[in-house]
Amino acid sequence: MREWCKTSMSSKSSSQIIIDAIKNKRAGYNLSDTVISDIITNYLNKNINDYEMASWIATISSIGMSFQEVKYLTESYVNSSIYKGNDHFKIEHKNFVVDKHSTGGVGDKVTLIVVPIVAACGVPVVKISGRSLGHAGGTLDKLESIKGLKLELKHEELQAILESTDMVITGQSHNLVPADKATYSLRDLIGYEDSIPLIAASIISKKVVTGANGLVLDVKTGSGALIEDYYQSKQLAELMLRLASEFRINCRVVLSDMKNPLGYAIGNILEIEEALDVLKGKRIPNLTELSIVIARLMLQLADPLLSDEEAVLKIENVINSGEAYNKFLQWVNMQGGNVKQLTNNLNFRDTLYKDVVSSEKAGWIESIDAKTIGKVISYLVKNSSNNHNIDHSAGIILLKHVGDYIEYKEPIAEIYHNKTGYDTFMSKQVLDAFNIGKAPTAPKPIIHEIL
Ligand code: URA
Repeated sequence: MREWCKTSMSSKSSSQIIIDAIKNKRAGYNLSDTVISDIITNYLNKNINDYEMASWIATISSIGMSFQEVKYLTESYVNSSIYKGNDHFKIEHKNFVVDKHSTGGVGDKVTLIVVPIVAACGVPVVKISGRSLGHAGGTLDKLESIKGLKLELKHEELQAILESTDMVITGQSHNLVPADKATYSLRDLIGYEDSIPLIAASIISKKVVTGANGLVLDVKTGSGALIEDYYQSKQLAELMLRLASEFRINCRVVLSDMKNPLGYAIGNILEIEEALDVLKGKRIPNLTELSIVIARLMLQLADPLLSDEEAVLKIENVINSGEAYNKFLQWVNMQGGNVKQLTNNLNFRDTLYKDVVSSEKAGWIESIDAKTIGKVISYLVKNSSNNHNIDHSAGIILLKHVGDYIEYKEPIAEIYHNKTGYDTFMSKQVLDAFNIGKAPTAPKPIIHEIL
């Protein structure tokens, strides 16, 4: 495939560079490393504006990118990370560092569970998380519901927290993959959250920057995932495996189901609460199982001789002894968060409005459409506040799950909100998300495949 173009484009204006890149891409050329890096640098320097960048994103997403192009884009994101003026951001660690990343889903709080578990087992985890993208929730938004928690860390802070707690979760920032931060929020605004090459570059660049040695990717598939189609999800998984290997990261992929929301809680603070319940030993259908498999794979990347049974035993030990839960609290404290908010049982739900959704028929729950629930939450969280910030307390508690029997008029879900963003159509949507049949159906596995 022909490549455009290798030579320096310093004589061209930034607008010319991006317009030529769009036209050449449409004419069938692949873009060179120079072109991709120039586009990313000029976008960060504000020489390329949002509508020019949006047009480029739309073009590369619609036409697709070669593997080389995705690699160049990943490198450009990585190179945008700056430390002390011009050095590239680099985290020093004595041990093998592992990480996990999900492609995004509804009710997906697995990161909040597995990171403290793996760290409590003695394997350090450094993680850069993102905000909500499309209808999928974001770990950063969830963590922001913990008062005081600092989610933009300087290099030195990140290094110190890692050394003392073996775990760090932070967000992209002006020095930590800023190119991913900028394009990520633009993609969300223009509806290009579901672009396979852009997801791959976004995720893998964050792992290269933190120096991950091992990585477990949770690639979601089904209605609540960014990529709904199973074969396209697998394509994304295979692309990220190849990309990770190119950057010498030892990677495993779990292809997991996102047809139904994960767990009972959906919404920022409600998901923190549910994750803490799992860390305290509560078993939640699908959520506990998926978390244990991901934590097991992370431990096995750090120690390939560890059998499945030994790894699961370690995980269960740190949950049962309270070490995983305490690790989470220790980390919250180190990163400036209010631990008392999490331990005092503040019953924050009592201060919110609650709308109870009741079933209009009796029967067996066959599925709960994750995308519908994700869209309701996204609307509720973004509109429930009048100062343009998201509402971290708004959310939904599912009272029943797939496979349960529900009586006529029995409560099926609770919607928590601050009144401003709530509308009765949301209760109707939540009710419609439940697919109720006449007979029990066999439970479907949460994990489709491990690559
Ligand atoms: N998670 C990311 O970090 N980036 C994406 O593009 C999608 C999910």
